[in-house]
Amino acid sequence: MTNQHILVVEDETAISDMIGFTIDRAGYTWRAAMDTKEAATCIAERLPDLILLDWMLPGISGIDYAKRLRKEELTQDIPIIMLTARGEESDKLRGFDAGVDDYISKPFSPKELVARIKAVLRRVSPFKEDSICQIDELRLDASSHRVSVNDSCVEMGPTEFKLLQFLMTHPERVYSRTQLLDYVWGSNVYIEDRTVDVHIRRLRKALGDHGYDRFIQTVRGAGYRFSPQE
Ligand code: CA
Repeated sequence: MTNQHILVVEDETAISDMIGFTIDRAGYTWRAAMDTKEAATCIAERLPDLILLDWMLPGISGIDYAKRLRKEELTQDIPIIMLTARGEESDKLRGFDAGVDDYISKPFSPKELVARIKAVLRRVSPFKEDSICQIDELRLDASSHRVSVNDSCVEMGPTEFKLLQFLMTHPERVYSRTQLLDYVWGSNVYIEDRTVDVHIRRLRKALGDHGYDRFIQTVRGAGYRFSPQE
């Protein structure tokens, strides 16, 4: 299991089923959407790690939908692989202009599909995972999953780590509990808002020994903000 989630946007059920079968066997979880409207619902329920997007869809085309995804903060960094029956260079260039990460031309083999997915995920995640974020003496190293203050380790659970990583990379902005659930947990469906409060409390406790709990600020009636300022 990779624990990575893929959204398949494809209106042809036979192709969608073949893709689903293949990526399921490769250890990914996945959801299928027949059109962009259904895709939006899937994304709201769980943020995918990658989107396989068909070029020819009913209504809005895959390429226009890719542009739309790139414009929205929530989805702008999600890698997109376009599925296309066309092979023309001009189309590919249009796609890369729209921020598409890679292409697979139909028909493709299951082996090729999985290879492309792995390659894109490998290429994309180093940016996220190698990043070291430091604010004041508080340092978060995503590649080693370590949080430290002046080289002394700050112990915390995996959820607190993800929460802190999100907050440190998005400082000085207020996020509601629902937004934090969307961004950090990737789902607002099965988890209650107050779960956020529980993890915020644990995170503050972990940072408290070093005096950095003050960075995680409650904004009454709005949510939470990460800020080194008072
Ligand atoms: Ca299609």
